[in-house]
Amino acid sequence: MMKKIYYTIIGILCFFLLFSNVSAKTLKEVKDELARDEANRNALIQKQKTVQNSIKRAQNEIGSLEDDIEKYEQEIEDLLAKIDELNEEIAEKQIEIDNLLNFLEVSDGDNVYLEYIFKSKSFTDFIYRSAVVEQMTKYNDELIEEMYELIEENKKLQVELNEKIDQNEKSIDSLEKKLSNYNVSLKDLETAHTNIDDTIADRKRTLQYYESIYKQNNCKETVELDACLTVESASGFIRPTKKGSISSEWGYRRCPIHGRELHSGIDIALAMNTPVYAAASGTVVGITRRSSCGGNIVTIRHSIKGTIYRTRYMHLASINVTMGQKVTVLTEIGKSGGGGYTLRRNGGWDRCSTGSHLHFMILPGSSGSSTINPRKMIKFPAKGKGFSARW
Ligand SMILES: [Zn+2]
Repeated sequence: MMKKIYYTIIGILCFFLLFSNVSAKTLKEVKDELARDEANRNALIQKQKTVQNSIKRAQNEIGSLEDDIEKYEQEIEDLLAKIDELNEEIAEKQIEIDNLLNFLEVSDGDNVYLEYIFKSKSFTDFIYRSAVVEQMTKYNDELIEEMYELIEENKKLQVELNEKIDQNEKSIDSLEKKLSNYNVSLKDLETAHTNIDDTIADRKRTLQYYESIYKQNNCKETVELDACLTVESASGFIRPTKKGSISSEWGYRRCPIHGRELHSGIDIALAMNTPVYAAASGTVVGITRRSSCGGNIVTIRHSIKGTIYRTRYMHLASINVTMGQKVTVLTEIGKSGGGGYTLRRNGGWDRCSTGSHLHFMILPGSSGSSTINPRKMIKFPAKGKGFSARW
């Protein structure tokens, strides 16, 4: 059982070693990767459009729901006004009825009929008067009842409208929740879009560089990068790290200890243990370990369009290559140092470094210590500015 797990783990490790290895890639595969990223970007753009449309639709829906609420509120106001009107009419009718009853009950005696008999000119007159009063009060009673019914109806309508408003408000709530979700996913998509744009831009620059080397070395697309890039005659140098910022230029500068002195390389400030790569294909011709001024140092010999140069990488925290090793721009020659434990004041060995950085030099010819300004052969950003690609 344990053996089985062990072999599975080894298998997985081998798989990763085999397939995560950049150098096993061919130019065609790099092109395919770019095409895949571009397809992904198009898919992202489509998704963004879909979400944007959903947002528009939700916003429109909320707008029309809000319009409806406004309409309903106006209707409720109208209903309330109508109820007020009806109540006023009812009060008026009530007064009319009261007056009529007063007309009938003029006396304060107990027997209304008798009083009327005396007050009326005749019994016929009394009958007539009471009949009229009864008819009119009945008529008014009916009117009042109708109006009460109308009020009830209006109240019902009001309740219905309030229910509609509640429903609309609930719909708006759920739409707004949806809307905020849409906005979150839109933001995610936008971030993914920006990231993929950056990746594509990087890949395009990389591809351009590879293509120039493949063309120069007459390699077929299906040849592995390592195989084609190993050809020592490179077309030029590229930056030795994928990222960093220029902290000091090549050239003469005033040193507080030594006076005027030549700074023999360009300083690339970067985090400790950042991978450092060969700036062009070549052969490792020098390895110095724990130098008291420069720390771990690697020197590589190159033939650039028929001219011999050396590149030197100083203040390395660790070295990853051996003497005589053929390297390409994809070879990680070591990790950057110059800070932390490599500093002498921290108990390290390198007294010529004040912080984590790579001191990168280009030396013409196969021997000698004269240097040239690396900017002459590699495009670096201005001093203080950073970069995030090798080309
Ligand atoms: Zn330096």
